Amino acid sequence: MTTTPRQVRVRFAPSPTGPFHAGGARTVLYNWLFARRHAGTLILRIEDTDRARYSAQAEADLLDSLRWLGITWDEGPEVGGPYAPYVQSQRTELYRHYAQVLLDCGCAYKCFCSAERLAQMRQEQRQRGEGGSYDRHCRRLAAEERAALEKQGRSFVIRLKVPPEGQTVVQDRIRGEITFDNTVLEDAILLKSDGYPTYHLANVVDDHLMEISHVMRGDEWLSSTPLHVIMYEAFGWQPPVFAHLPVILSPTGQGKMSKRKVKGPGGKEYYVLVQEFRQAGYLPEAMVNFLARLGWAYDDRTEVFDLEEMIANFSLDGVSSSPAAFSYDKLLWMNGVYIRSLEVHDLARRCLPFLQQAGLVPDPCPPATWDYILRMMPLLQPRIATLADVVEHSAYFFTSEIVYDDPQLLLPKKGGPAETRAALAQVRQRLAVLESFDEATLETVLREMADTLGWKAGQLFMPIRGAVTGRKVSPGLFETLSVLGQARTLQRLDRALEALQELED
Ligand code: GLU
Repeated sequence: MTTTPRQVRVRFAPSPTGPFHAGGARTVLYNWLFARRHAGTLILRIEDTDRARYSAQAEADLLDSLRWLGITWDEGPEVGGPYAPYVQSQRTELYRHYAQVLLDCGCAYKCFCSAERLAQMRQEQRQRGEGGSYDRHCRRLAAEERAALEKQGRSFVIRLKVPPEGQTVVQDRIRGEITFDNTVLEDAILLKSDGYPTYHLANVVDDHLMEISHVMRGDEWLSSTPLHVIMYEAFGWQPPVFAHLPVILSPTGQGKMSKRKVKGPGGKEYYVLVQEFRQAGYLPEAMVNFLARLGWAYDDRTEVFDLEEMIANFSLDGVSSSPAAFSYDKLLWMNGVYIRSLEVHDLARRCLPFLQQAGLVPDPCPPATWDYILRMMPLLQPRIATLADVVEHSAYFFTSEIVYDDPQLLLPKKGGPAETRAALAQVRQRLAVLESFDEATLETVLREMADTLGWKAGQLFMPIRGAVTGRKVSPGLFETLSVLGQARTLQRLDRALEALQELED
C-alpha cells in the first residue's frame, strides 16, 4: 500500500479506569512534543467503552493531571473539534456501522457461542495444554445454521476473521519490522453482545476517522497491533505510523514500574501517580523534563532542558527501543535544579499551599505573612528538593515558641549554662537597641560582641542559632536573624535565657 505523508495528527487515547499514572504521562507527553515539533494536532480521546471499568473520577483526575503538567490538547473533551465527539461512548453508532461493514465484506463474523460453551472450550484447551484462543467454532457455521440462530434471536458478538495462515507484519517506527504468525492471533471480538465495541474496533475506527497519522503508545499494545493491521487492510484504509514506546522499569531496573505506590529500601516511598508526585511537591516542569528523558535523548549528556528545547529536538529517532528505568534519585535531583531556577515570588507562590496544609500559615495568607515568606525564600531555596520540603525547613520561622528539647542546643562546646546565659543576655541587650536589623549590621555587631566577650565567634554563634531556630543547623545565622526580625529574635532569646536558667537550677 502506498503511504502518503500526512499532516501530523496524534492522539492520546486513555481508558479512564483508575488514577493517572506517570507512564501515561510520558505517553501523552511524547505525543504532545511530537505534535508541537511538527506543527501538528494532539487529540485527546476518551476510550470509555468498557463501561464496567470506566470511572468518572478517573477521567476528572486525568484532565486535572494533564492541566497540572501543562499539556494541552487541540481537539478533545472541553475543547471540541471537527471530529467530535471525542468520547467513545458517544460514538457507538459509528462502531456498529463499521462492524457491519466488516461483516458485509466477509472480514468478520457473528459468534453465537454462549458463555458456558466458551468456558467449557477453555477448560478442554487447558486440559490439552493449549492456549486459550477462541476455537473459531462460529466461523465454520454453515449459512443455514447461522440463519437459524439469528432467527431464534440468539445474542451474538462480532469477531474479526484473522487469516488462518501466513504472517502479519507490523512496521514500527521504534522497533522496526515485527512479524507475527497469523496462527498465534485470535479472532478477536470487535463488537460485544451489548452493542458496545471492544478496544480494537473503536480504536482503529477512530484513528482512521480522526485521520491519525502516528500512533504512539506503550509497548503493551504491540501485541494488539497485528490485529489492527489486519483490520486496516480489511477496511482498505491506510494505517497510521506505529511507534511503541519502551516499557518503564522500576528504579532497580528489575521488572516493570509498579502501578501502585511501593515502599523501597529504607522505607522510601515510590510514587507512581501524577497526583502523588504533585502532592509530594514535584514541579510540573521537572516532571515533564524527567519524563521526556525517560526513553528519549537528543544527545548523550543533556539532562536538563526547557520545553522549547524539548519541542525543537523531539524526534522518534531519539526514542530508545530498550526499556528505561524510573530513577527517583534523578527526578529528585532534577526537581531541586528546577526549584533553584525559580524566581523567588514564583517559588513562594508554589510553596504556600504546602505551608497552609501543614498549618504553618493561615488560608488566606495575611499580607504580612506573605512578606515574611518572601523574605525567607532565598534562604530556603538552595536547601529544598521538593516543595513539600519547605515545611520542615521553615517550621522554625513560624513557630510561636521554640522547644529546646536538647539542652546542648543552647550550650557552646566549651561553656556552662551560667556563662552562656550571661553572654546571651548581653547579646539580647545589644540587639534590642539596634536600629537596623539587616544582615551586614548583625554580622558586624555579633562579631564585635564575640571579641568583647573574649569568645570565639563560632562559640557565641552556636547558642544564638540554637536559641532562635531550635536547631543545630540552619541557613547562615545573620540572614536567619534578619529574616526573623528583631521582635521574634528578642522574644526567642528571652525564652532561651529562661531555659538556661532552668539548666542552672
Ligand atoms: N485505550 C487504550 C489505553 O488505555 C489506548 C491504547 C492506544 O493508545 O491505542 O491505553
